[in-house]
Amino acid sequence: MNGAILAVGSELLGTDRLDTNSLRLTALLERYGWTLVRKAVVGDDEERIGGEVLRMAQEASVVLVGGGLGPTSDDVTRQAVAAALGLELTEDPAVVEDIRAKFRAFGREMPEVNRRQAMVPHGALKIENPRGTAPGLELKLEGGGPDGQGATIFLLPGVPRELKALTEGHVEPWLAQRSGGAVRETRTLKVACVPESELEERLVPAYEAFGREQITVLSKPAEITVRYVAEGPEESRRGKLAAMEERLVELIGDGLYARRDVPLEEVVGQALAEAGHTVSTAESCTGGLIAERLTRVAGSSAYFEGSAVTYSNRLKQHLLGVPGSVLESEGAVSEAVARAMAEGVRERLGTTWSVAVTGIAGPGGGTEEKPVGTVHFALAGPAGTVHRRATFPGDRERIRFQTSQVALELLRRGLGAQSES
Ligand code: AMP
Ligand code: MG
Repeated sequence: MNGAILAVGSELLGTDRLDTNSLRLTALLERYGWTLVRKAVVGDDEERIGGEVLRMAQEASVVLVGGGLGPTSDDVTRQAVAAALGLELTEDPAVVEDIRAKFRAFGREMPEVNRRQAMVPHGALKIENPRGTAPGLELKLEGGGPDGQGATIFLLPGVPRELKALTEGHVEPWLAQRSGGAVRETRTLKVACVPESELEERLVPAYEAFGREQITVLSKPAEITVRYVAEGPEESRRGKLAAMEERLVELIGDGLYARRDVPLEEVVGQALAEAGHTVSTAESCTGGLIAERLTRVAGSSAYFEGSAVTYSNRLKQHLLGVPGSVLESEGAVSEAVARAMAEGVRERLGTTWSVAVTGIAGPGGGTEEKPVGTVHFALAGPAGTVHRRATFPGDRERIRFQTSQVALELLRRGLGAQSES
């Protein structure tokens, strides 16, 4: 079972647009046990598209093409594939009517250019597009494929949310049905604030037990994604995954914050909501990033009260009540100031929890005693205040992200939270 993927769009050959669709399609092929034998990007050029599709349809029994189904004259995938396969391309009245109806639903007339999206190669199957105007198309090349048994070609819209809808609704079931149950299933564990090398060491027994290729560690600063995979028929696959999960969770230990692919702020938010607690932040080197991340989560106004972004000593005193004498004697980047910021914002905003950070994001401002990357954290809560100090490597951007991550992780641990699902 070989598969191939073609991304169409001149913009994808430049530096502005990343070909994310092909990654989605690759994951899909992997999940159902297909071997990806070729992947390509071509511009909006009829001959190149046609040539590439024909070549792919010789090597693979399924060819997934994304892009070039738009209404404008630069979108030529339909014509290109019809010409390459020698199929007549005609306007399908039912599709025209469908597109008209979609425009009408928004109180608009269908522009004439959209008729192009109703052109259907002879014999092609139309795939309903719930999120856009252009239907997807499914075509068969008799005699194609590596074994001469024929190749199936899917033409999908390039808009990522449309492509997603069509793959989930149509392509995925198609691939699943032909996989004979040989599904590869991937699960995710999320880990915060454990160094990658340390995590690798902790995971050695799992590599030995389950195989190195079955477990992947993807690392960003202060955040690690562990993916593990099992294949085979449902029952044995699920059994393997459960055994792997149990062992991995045990080995990872206390940095584990979720058993699915979610950002830390979502797990923290869920815990706050469940506990009926509230939170505020006082931020000095993150410019409100912790608050920004907390409020990315829908429904966060239920627990996030607000924050104080205080860079100057004057505002640390005025808004948070940090004593001037402490700022004077300890400096703004210090344990005492972090603690006073957290306690000050908690008291003044009246929240269950508060997190404060004060640090040096760089590139300037470091000293020998407090180098760039030095950050003091304080978490104030019902049982008092805890403090942490960290020195992060990297540039300003990385230091700021890592700071927000450690702050959220402190809060998560304070709440004793972990996502169980
Ligand atoms: P199209 O179907 O070619 O008109 O594409 C519509 C939109 O989807 C354009 O903004 C493209 O930049 C975007 N797009 C097309 N192909 C891809 C791709 N492979 N990955 C991400 N975005 C894409
Ligand atoms: Mg395009």
